Amino acid sequence: MPDLIEADRAPTARHRPRAGAALAALPVAAPVSEVWAALGAAGVLTDLYDHEDPGPGPGTGTAATLDPARLADLIRAVDARGDNGVTLSVLVQAASALPLLAACAPATGPVRQALQEALSGSATVALAATDSAAAGSDLAGLGTEVDIATDGLRLTGGKRWITTACAADRLLVLARHRPGRHFTSFTWVLVPATAPGVRVRPADSDLLGGSATGHVELDGVRLPPDHLVGRPGRGMALFARHMGTERLAGALWAVALTSRVLADTRERLTRRHCDGRPLWHHDAVRQRYAACLVQVRQLRALCESLAERVTRRQDLAAAALLKSAAGLVADPVLAACAQLQGADGFARDGAQTIRAEAGVLGIGGGVTEVVLAAVADHADTLLTELRS
Ligand SMILES: Cc1cc2nc3c(=O)[nH]c(=O)nc-3n(C[C@H](O)[C@H](O)[C@H](O)COP(=O)(O)OP(=O)(O)OC[C@H]3O[C@@H](n4cnc5c(N)ncnc54)[C@H](O)[C@@H]3O)c2cc1C
Repeated sequence: MPDLIEADRAPTARHRPRAGAALAALPVAAPVSEVWAALGAAGVLTDLYDHEDPGPGPGTGTAATLDPARLADLIRAVDARGDNGVTLSVLVQAASALPLLAACAPATGPVRQALQEALSGSATVALAATDSAAAGSDLAGLGTEVDIATDGLRLTGGKRWITTACAADRLLVLARHRPGRHFTSFTWVLVPATAPGVRVRPADSDLLGGSATGHVELDGVRLPPDHLVGRPGRGMALFARHMGTERLAGALWAVALTSRVLADTRERLTRRHCDGRPLWHHDAVRQRYAACLVQVRQLRALCESLAERVTRRQDLAAAALLKSAAGLVADPVLAACAQLQGADGFARDGAQTIRAEAGVLGIGGGVTEVVLAAVADHADTLLTELRS
């Protein structure tokens, strides 16, 4: 597969809409809705997926295969803007919500319209799985209920810590249509943010402000039946199938973010002098810094070697490896950078804040511990690969 980072130089790349160019004219503090709109208007979001590779989707739509190099380009360009909240929002929309909608959208109707508007950048969409009634690590315990009747749907419950919730035109909500933990008990529902009974309040946090993260109340929300996303009972299967794309995107973000902070840290170390020479020339500093470079380079190599297994084969072991590696690498690397920046790391939006914000890589979409358990589940396969 192509080197994800070198994709800019691939011959075909000249014909693709480039995320960096699409964002160049935006003000530094542009909110996620403007960033999303610029990406959509430039065709970057549509171009993320190869729609010419259709297959019978699990819903009534077609399969869409993500191009890992284009995803890497998108994540790198958005990360370069330095607003981690906006990057998180773009990541979840592009790598989770879009493929889910694409897999389920029939030829016409509100789900198709949501997909088209999201791809064009004219509307934003949040993915609301984590439930108010259960731990996020216990998805099958979720309490939000959808009552499915021939004349319509009725949704009641709550979702918490949902990226983009406060800026979303629509919410993709995972609900249960029957009691119990069986994986066929769950269904996705498309909820317009303005529907009566929907209330969103911002998460009380100083971190990732640009992500518009919020908590959602769903109080007897009534919707027409065509707001079901995919067939009833397919909710968990669809989620599992598309989860890998978000996990790859998270690992790509970890590479982009740590590389950006490492570059900034090196620049500071070369400027700052101690005992007559730049800090960068102190052996202990160089070794600590070099160890970070090694870890990030390993993470990038993992992205490159596993990306197509995730996007083409929905390989859950590969996705778990990527997600756990991102969580395990980002924190120590960013902690080292923050330490090496001394007091300056405590400046507003400085390295210490970035480190705290990057903690989401080990929490959002599955905590590192749970993902490591999934890696352990695949130990036999992984060992066979390592020894072949
Ligand atoms: C900034 C942000 C954005 C988010 N965006 C979204 C979003 O867009 N959509 C969405 O649906 N959700 C979102 N989430 C929610 C996120 O997916 C959950 O927070 C996550 O799944 C963990 O759930 P929890 O917070 O309830 O932690 P819990 O499940 O309560 O776990 C708490 C801690 O317990 C430990 N733990 C839990 N289970 C195990 C285990 N089996 N083994 C060992 N240790 C364990 C871990 O240390 C874990 O961190 C977001 C969260 C954040 C912080």
